Amino acid sequence: MVIGKKNLVHTLESMDFLKMDRRTFLKAVGAVGATAFLGTYKTEIVSALEFAETKLVWLHGAECTGCSESILNGGNPDIVQAITKLNVNLAYHETLLAQQGLFVDGKPANSSELNSEILVDELIEEGNYILIVEGAIANGPDGSGRYCVIGNRPFKELFSKAAKNANAILAVGTCAAYGGINSADSAVSELTDYRGVQFTKEDGSKGMLQELGIRKPVINIPGCPAHPDWILLTLGAVILGKLRIPEDLNSALDRFGRPKVFFPPGHTVHENCPRRGYYDRGEFDTEIGGEKCLWKLGCKAPYTHSDCALRRWNGSVSMCTQAGSPCIACVEPGFPDSARPLYVEAEDKGVFLGANIDTVSKAAVGASVLAAGVHAVRRMKGDD
Ligand code: SF4
Ligand code: SF4
Repeated sequence: MVIGKKNLVHTLESMDFLKMDRRTFLKAVGAVGATAFLGTYKTEIVSALEFAETKLVWLHGAECTGCSESILNGGNPDIVQAITKLNVNLAYHETLLAQQGLFVDGKPANSSELNSEILVDELIEEGNYILIVEGAIANGPDGSGRYCVIGNRPFKELFSKAAKNANAILAVGTCAAYGGINSADSAVSELTDYRGVQFTKEDGSKGMLQELGIRKPVINIPGCPAHPDWILLTLGAVILGKLRIPEDLNSALDRFGRPKVFFPPGHTVHENCPRRGYYDRGEFDTEIGGEKCLWKLGCKAPYTHSDCALRRWNGSVSMCTQAGSPCIACVEPGFPDSARPLYVEAEDKGVFLGANIDTVSKAAVGASVLAAGVHAVRRMKGDD
């Protein structure tokens, strides 16, 4: 039986949206046309989303909120599409929630509708959420965590409570994944003792979870900031059951807990850099603002495992080296120490099996000449 649009609207009016599963709900939206449907059923949809299938609790530690900025600039899917299509309930996000810090009669409000500290405690109590952590977690001084206090509570304490009750944890950005710039070597770094969720720099035994004795599945999505696609597509894969936790994590993640699909162990940014032709010909810029290879200006892309040059940024328009900035290896667990000094030509780090970059450059020139020669022979033979 084919139901006309008018009848379908009538049928839908008698349905209880809160009892619809997500698939039926989306089919119904598609059948009627999203605009008409949203106009008619806005209130019901809002209620339905409150009963969404996947709850997210997003916490901020020591960071610049750049990863939240990045996700808000997401292209395909964007944040709204991701939340609605995946039926996600973004239950807590400190910089996006409206109700933080309201005072009644000079005192902080005492309900979860008006006071985010109460809200986050209630959500943690309820459990059954994915915890997203943005930012590093201070362990200092002396294990107290008081170098990062939010409200009157050390972030370490909030993270500990939230991690214990989470189904899984996504560490978003290099700060949450590996400590990032918070953990960089400095005169105070031992005192502040910033940690990533599961790693601190390359050390998988020094994350905050290990410090707290908590075992939870973790996915690291590094980057300074993390690319919105890396965050949203990972989240999508988890929610849709394409990336099962914990079953698939061993095969899907690299040794630093990153999804291999975005951070391929056998691929570097350098391989697909738009300036790669200059590198292969040994033509290097020595001042910012040119168009040649940025290696001599400190580009670390030959050591950097991510798909930046393929995926690109800002709606796939550009990326660091294309825009004229050397890659600073922001997705690597040792960042920034392993990339410092950022704008100085890297010494040989043994990445290319002990060969130094000049040797590799010459070999690459040889390989391109060889490839061009093979191509010419094939053309002469009429193969292509
Ligand atoms: S700019 Fe960096 S990534 Fe691009 S070719 Fe040069 S070294 Fe490689
Ligand atoms: S190109 Fe390098 S510095 Fe730029 S976002 Fe990618 S990994 Fe980070």
